[in-house]
Amino acid sequence: MVGCVGDDSYGALLRGNLARHGVDVSGVDARVGLKTGVALIVVDAPSGENRIILSPEANHAVLAGDVAVAGIFSDSDTRPDLLIMQLEIPLPTVLAALARAREAGVAVLLNPAPAQPLPDAAYAGLAHLVVNETEAALLGGVADSASLVPSTDAEKAPQALDAVARAFVAKGVRNVVATLGSHGVFFLTADGRSGLVPAEKVAAVVDTTAAGDTFVGAYALEAVAASAAGREFDVEAAVRKANRAAARTVERAGAQDSIPWRDELV
Ligand code: ADP
Repeated sequence: MVGCVGDDSYGALLRGNLARHGVDVSGVDARVGLKTGVALIVVDAPSGENRIILSPEANHAVLAGDVAVAGIFSDSDTRPDLLIMQLEIPLPTVLAALARAREAGVAVLLNPAPAQPLPDAAYAGLAHLVVNETEAALLGGVADSASLVPSTDAEKAPQALDAVARAFVAKGVRNVVATLGSHGVFFLTADGRSGLVPAEKVAAVVDTTAAGDTFVGAYALEAVAASAAGREFDVEAAVRKANRAAARTVERAGAQDSIPWRDELV
């Protein structure tokens, strides 16, 4: 994990929680004089949908020149099997890390959240682009994100979503994955495979916070497992597993605490 927190109690809590769960936090700086990033999350009781007000604070202090950012590719102990990035840190840092990963031959999963427009160079050589419909619309230049969402029992993705995914592939993405909440997940690969995988049935949606992050984590585990075993990555199988994991998250309240452990998913 590479990042930055402030020298406050939130920072110590977050770093400590990651470390307790076995994450190497030596790349997570605690900076004097900065505050830890915080998010105020409001959950609508009947639907479980959320609104997030974000104050990035120390997240915006993660710079491309930081030792941790620069060092992860050169040190064989920390060279990742897969680099996962979001847009919670400054875009120039993300773009620099993408370029370094490309040079080093490290596969990258980009989850462009919170959404902001990206230069074409960001897509070139990306192994996985995981977007929700808002991100797909913003990055794909579609005014109405609702036009990208199929009806719940549809068997095919809307043509507009297919077109957006094709444009990402044309820019150099190998696997495009669009998560559409309860409406399923659409995927398109550079070798032309595509499909709409239904979401898992959930008895009661309590809180959708962290569903997208759970999806990304579970999907990434499948990608890493495939490359470690030397087998071809099966995007559809990864989506099914990630759907199962994210369905558990929406059934529970909270963010980090609602994410299931792997042994809960067998
Ligand atoms: P984000 O949280 O980034 O907006 P989504 O809303 O698409 O992303 O949710 C991510 C994933 O979480 C979905 O692809 C699906 O696997 C799962 N999920 C979200 N909402 C539901 C739901 N109501 N029922 C079942 N699964 C859901």
